[in-house]
Amino acid sequence: MSLELIEKEIQGCTNCGLAAGRTNIVFGVGNPKAKLMLIGEGPGKDEDLQGIPFVGAAGQLLDKILEAAEIKRQDVYIANIVKCRPPNNRVPSRKEAKACLPWLWQQLETIRPQIVVLLGSTALQNLIKPDAKITQMRGQWLESKSGIKIMPTYHPAALLRDPRRKKPVWEDFQQVRDEYKKLMNES
Ligand code: SF4
Repeated sequence: MSLELIEKEIQGCTNCGLAAGRTNIVFGVGNPKAKLMLIGEGPGKDEDLQGIPFVGAAGQLLDKILEAAEIKRQDVYIANIVKCRPPNNRVPSRKEAKACLPWLWQQLETIRPQIVVLLGSTALQNLIKPDAKITQMRGQWLESKSGIKIMPTYHPAALLRDPRRKKPVWEDFQQVRDEYKKLMNES
């Protein structure tokens, strides 16, 4: 199925309670054939208003990180665990994430990225292991059954709260950059 069709299908989704508070569904943005996909937590205020992921302060920081890693934002695909804004930017519940994950699975099946960066513990815990700790697992490659290389790192919003996390995130993105470059050179 194409991304356009999935996006059409998601319109009007009421599979969880987050539907009630949204302005827009924030489906995802980027290259439908991206080799690299970034997965965050959920839309914030700016994202909800614009219907685009990572456009607020955390998104601007992500843009800077990508630029420093020589990765063009338009070449990658960016999505979230939940597509509707949780009230007051709270962490989405396990139930909400579970309700929304089928949309993300469809995105992953369609895009077929070879590298996935998990931004923050919500992405890590909902996609890898519910009790996984981002502080322990960041910076180390994981691999899915289908061979996707997965790098967990901190969410850019966490860097805004705690600038000491900038260094580890940059180290993680250097690894992502190297792997991504390898892939681009192979293709
Ligand atoms: S968060 Fe996901 S599952 Fe919940 S209403 Fe929005 S699109 Fe549907």
